[in-house]
Amino acid sequence: MRLISVTPFLRVIHRLDVNMFNHYNLDEIRDRARAAFIGMAIGDALGATVEFMTASEIASKYGTFKEIIGGGWLRLKPGQVTDDTQMALCIARAIVKSQAWSLGAVADNFAAWLKSRPVDCGDTCRKGIRAYMLHGTMETPPNEWDAGNGAAMRMLPVALFSLPDGELLRKYTLEQAHLTHNNPVSDAACICLGELLHLAICGAEKSRLRRQVDGLTSRFPSFAFDPYRGLASGYVVDTLQTVFHWFFRGKSFDECLVGTVNQGGDADTTGAICGMLAGAYYGMEGIPQRWLKKMDRAVIAEIESVTLKLVAASPLGTVF
Ligand code: MN
Ligand code: MN
Repeated sequence: MRLISVTPFLRVIHRLDVNMFNHYNLDEIRDRARAAFIGMAIGDALGATVEFMTASEIASKYGTFKEIIGGGWLRLKPGQVTDDTQMALCIARAIVKSQAWSLGAVADNFAAWLKSRPVDCGDTCRKGIRAYMLHGTMETPPNEWDAGNGAAMRMLPVALFSLPDGELLRKYTLEQAHLTHNNPVSDAACICLGELLHLAICGAEKSRLRRQVDGLTSRFPSFAFDPYRGLASGYVVDTLQTVFHWFFRGKSFDECLVGTVNQGGDADTTGAICGMLAGAYYGMEGIPQRWLKKMDRAVIAEIESVTLKLVAASPLGTVF
């Protein structure tokens, strides 16, 4: 059952470049969506090994760090994912189960996930989820300190489910983000990331993606990443600077991701965000088999299943 009628889609078409619409190819979109979700999980599993290390500590221990080997401060198995991928899956499952946007279902899944004693959970995320569990709060109060990357890292499912409608993207983005992070800098980062995912999944070139980022930096100059400062903390500004720097200079999924995680810092999250973006851009053929083979099979199987359902339930999937 699809709750999205064709009418809102017609509204969408008016806002789209008609030539671009003619070139939409659902097989290609599915491939890029799958690569985005798998790429996110790969970036999480790869980066987690070097999370909280500095770039020079990584260089002296590994030279260039580029294999999925587990370990790290969380003592992970090779291919194991962390909160970044798990929270994204919570959102994806809520949408698939409801066959609609249900913020309550997302919050319930976050609560069940937190009760399951996850391997990791950021402080701001934990605070927001606890407020929901204790008081049913679905929008955390605005807070100038809540500009961590915890809302941005779980953006992919709402980007897929809103394809290609920018207004729906904005609505779902802000609602999911504000469960835990209510901050204008985080909001701007989340929306820009969602727009980049829409564009990349629909086949836009990097020059077009770069223009979208220029729009963000004109409104929020702190996101400017050229010259690159080399900071990769959990502050969403540092996180996106690192992702943008390595995504725009990399020539392959592999290069974008290796550059990103070797900056260290919040490497699983910079890895996850770069992985979703580079996956969307390069598609499945860009994803190295040596990484895909190392990933947790159950996680990849669930990702494959929910990705297809999210795209099928999106405004774009509904008309094909
Ligand atoms: Mn993590
Ligand atoms: Mn992290």
